[in-house]
Amino acid sequence: MAKHTVTLIPGDGIGPETTAAMQRVLAAAGADIEWEVAEAGAHLMEEYGTPLPDSTVDAIKRNKVAIKGPVTTPVGTGFRSVNVALRKELETYVNLRPVLSVPGAGGRFEDVDIVIVRENTEDLYAGVEFAMNTPGAEKLIQLAADEGAGVIRPDSGLSIKAISVTGTERIVRYAFEYALAQGRKKVTAVHKANIMKHSDGLFLRVAREVAAEYEGRVAFDDKIVDAFCMNLVIDPSQFDVIVFPNLYGDIASDLAAGMVGGLGIAPGANIGDEYAVFEAVHGSAPDIAGKDLCNPTAEVLSAAMMLDYLGEQECAERVRAAVRKVYADGSNLTGDIRKSTRSSLPGCTCTEFTDALIAALA
Ligand code: NAD
Repeated sequence: MAKHTVTLIPGDGIGPETTAAMQRVLAAAGADIEWEVAEAGAHLMEEYGTPLPDSTVDAIKRNKVAIKGPVTTPVGTGFRSVNVALRKELETYVNLRPVLSVPGAGGRFEDVDIVIVRENTEDLYAGVEFAMNTPGAEKLIQLAADEGAGVIRPDSGLSIKAISVTGTERIVRYAFEYALAQGRKKVTAVHKANIMKHSDGLFLRVAREVAAEYEGRVAFDDKIVDAFCMNLVIDPSQFDVIVFPNLYGDIASDLAAGMVGGLGIAPGANIGDEYAVFEAVHGSAPDIAGKDLCNPTAEVLSAAMMLDYLGEQECAERVRAAVRKVYADGSNLTGDIRKSTRSSLPGCTCTEFTDALIAALA
C-alpha cells in the first residue's frame, strides 16, 4: 500500500476516543498512513476565540484528505458550526452517506444497501434568514405582495430556500459518476417539485437533463419526498443511489441510519472537487464522553470510505469484513447496540470492541 498523509481532527466529546480506536484498527489492517493532527472543537474557544483555527483549515488544504471526530457546536456564541464552516471553506458540496445493513447491529431491516448523496451547500440550510419584524423581513414580505407571489403574514420569520442550476448539476452529476464507478444501477432524485415549482422543480428539471447524458449506462427515476419515505420503509431494496437537495437529504439519512441500527454505525463523508473530509454521522455525545463507552464503528467505517477514496479498496474491504465479523459474532458489542438489539447483556467498552475488531482482522 502506498503511503498517504491525512489530516486527523480528533474533535471533542467522544471524538478523541472514536478517532483513536479508528487509528488502531487502520494500523492493524496495514494502512500506511501518516497522521497530521489538527484541532477543532469547543475547547479551543478560550485560546483561539473560534472552534476552527485557520491552521486546521490550512492543514486540510495541504493534505487534501482529512478524517474527523465530532465537534460540539457551542450554543449562543454566534459561531454556527465547525461542520458548516468547513463545508463552506472547502466547498465540499457532496455529503455522501452509504447506508448498509450490518447483521447483528439491531436494525429493523436486514436488506438495506443504499447510498445517500446529499447536496451540502444550498437549500434552506444555507442560512439566509430574516428575523420577524426586521426591515429585511418587511421588505421581502412587501416584495412578495408587489410581485403577486403571495401573501405572507406580517408576523413571520423568513428562511430562504434557494436551489441553483450550478448546485444541482454538480450534485446530480456526482451521483451518476459515483454510480458508474461503484457499479450501481440506478439513481433516484428526491424532491417536492409538485409544490415548490421554482426550487425543487428546477432541481428535478436539471436532474433529468443530467440523467439523459447517462441513459443506457445508469437508470434514473424520481420520487416525491413524502412518497419516497413511505417507499423506503416498505421496501428499501428498490433504491440504489439517491440524490437529494440539502434538507430532505439530512432527514432521509437519519431515517435510513435508524433502519439499520442507528447512529453508532453510520459513516459519512463531505467531498468536493479538491478536498474530502470523512466523519461519522453522529455528534460528540457529551453524555458518554471520556467513559470508554462509545461505539467507534461509524468512525471506522468512515475510515474505510476514506481508504476507498485513496484507492486502497483492498484494505478498506478488510476493515469492513472485520466489522461484519464482530457484529455477526455478537459477543463484544457496545451499549448503544445492546439497546437497539433489545439485549439485556451489558455493553462492552470502546477498547474491548476495538480489540475484537483488531482480532477479527486476522
Ligand atoms: P449525538 O449524536 O452526539 O448523540 C445522540 C445520542 O446518541 C446520545 O445519547 C449519544 O450518547 C448517542 N451516541 C452518539 N454517538 C454515539 C456513539 N458513537 N456510540 C454510542 N452512543 C452514541 O447528538 P446530539 O446530542 O444532538 O449532539 C451533541 C453535540 O454534537 C452537539 O453539540 C451537536 O451540535 C454536535 N454534533 C456534531 C456533529 C459533527 O461534528 N459531525 C454531528 C452532529 C452533532
